[in-house]
Amino acid sequence: MIDPTPAAPAAPPSYGPEAILRRQSLRESSARTYARTLPIVPVRARGLTIEGADGKRYLDCLSGAGTLALGHNHPVVLEAIRKVLDSGAPLHVLDLATPVKDDFTTALFETLPRGLADRARIQFCGPAGTDAVEAALKLVRRATGQRGTLAFTGAYHGMTADALAASGGAEDVTVTRLPFPQDYRCPFGVGGPQGAELSARWTESILDDAKSGVHRPAGMIVEPVQGEGGVHPAPDAWLRRMREITASRGIPLIVDEVQTGVGRTGAFWAVEHSGVVPDVMVLSKAIGGSLPLAVVVYREELDTWPPGAHAGTFRGNQLAMAAGAATLAYVTANGLAERAEVLGARMLRQLRALAAEYPCIGEVRGRGLMIGIELVDPEAEPAVGPGAVPVDPAMGPDDVTRPVGDLTTPTSWSAVQRGAGQVRGEPAPAAPELAATVQRECLRRGLIVELGGRNSSVVRLLPPLTLTDEQASAVLDRFADALAVSVSASSPRR
Ligand code: PMP
Repeated sequence: MIDPTPAAPAAPPSYGPEAILRRQSLRESSARTYARTLPIVPVRARGLTIEGADGKRYLDCLSGAGTLALGHNHPVVLEAIRKVLDSGAPLHVLDLATPVKDDFTTALFETLPRGLADRARIQFCGPAGTDAVEAALKLVRRATGQRGTLAFTGAYHGMTADALAASGGAEDVTVTRLPFPQDYRCPFGVGGPQGAELSARWTESILDDAKSGVHRPAGMIVEPVQGEGGVHPAPDAWLRRMREITASRGIPLIVDEVQTGVGRTGAFWAVEHSGVVPDVMVLSKAIGGSLPLAVVVYREELDTWPPGAHAGTFRGNQLAMAAGAATLAYVTANGLAERAEVLGARMLRQLRALAAEYPCIGEVRGRGLMIGIELVDPEAEPAVGPGAVPVDPAMGPDDVTRPVGDLTTPTSWSAVQRGAGQVRGEPAPAAPELAATVQRECLRRGLIVELGGRNSSVVRLLPPLTLTDEQASAVLDRFADALAVSVSASSPRR
């Protein structure tokens, strides 16, 4: 029965941080992520710093999951956004031509690897990286008439799967997984150049073996540095091998630079480290200067898909294009890719020095300002046994750039190198609980870090490229302090 008495007016909601967080946990989905591990309520932000509703300040090394090349609210980004707002230009125009889009396209093409930019086409996509990945895979399927995709273990390309299928546009796609080279947890048990060489040979063999069960693929998709997978830089020589393998077999190479682009790894695009010119590049995150934008750029010969083959209502976000063009120009004009390379290398050195003191740091790796610290449990039984593999006796521990086949690697693999001719044991198991504690302790010290990797045991640093030397020191000091406290809390012996 309906109660005729009018309801008492609801009490006005409280806007304090605790009340906001409480309402969030009551109303938002169980699938929420960062909100669980970073229970803060940001109200203001500038550069590296976020201010919470509780008045506390945090150094933000999450940067919108690697989106904020220039940090929060950079003046050139704000100015570009205001200019569009003040001009009376439309903010949303599907894929119609506008001066703002024209400027963005020019700015973007100026940054692309020359071999691609000279003959490139661009498709503006729905404003998420995953949509541009969908577009790229669809593009190469249409262009080659093949269905299969070659992708790598540990890869992350996005979250979409079902929308097209539910729309009746389902395509019968198969994905073949190839081993991505990793030093610390090499699937072949050898790491370094040998591990990368084995990964390349496996790729060749399944493509050339008529009975491998792998049909001719439409394309290969690869991240030049795996981000979500735990910060694994692809060795340059291995990436060149992937280019040769795909080019010689007429397979388009798609490079997913959603996270690595716009200076993050120490080159404007991470493929530039290796000199590889891909057929397709998937770009998002930083290209929108903190606003949502995603595109796919590709060789014009691939442009055989029909009108409407890939669409998306919000592919004309003018504010994102203006903010993005301003960001691209600023990164170039201020040499921020070079700055990321120098500062990132210094931070890696400092973190490796810290690793020498802490057996729970399994490996420190990264490129530019994309840094990962893998935490392990050094006291758990190492899995030496059938998986242990003898190290090539000709390779000394310092011999990290010696070619094997035509592969070299710039990354350190000394963490798992036990010495010439010795048996290489498996690395210690991942330590996700320790990583979660470190993340919490970092937050208590005013530092926001991300966790990633297969077991969420890799602490990830993705600071803005505008990071100063002093800020970098503050980040590392807070991290070291948080690690020390977390380690002594979890085991006094470590
Ligand atoms: N590719 C890579 C390499 C990514 O890191 C991500 C997101 N972390 C995506 C694609 C998907 O982007 P989005 O979350 O914007 O869909």
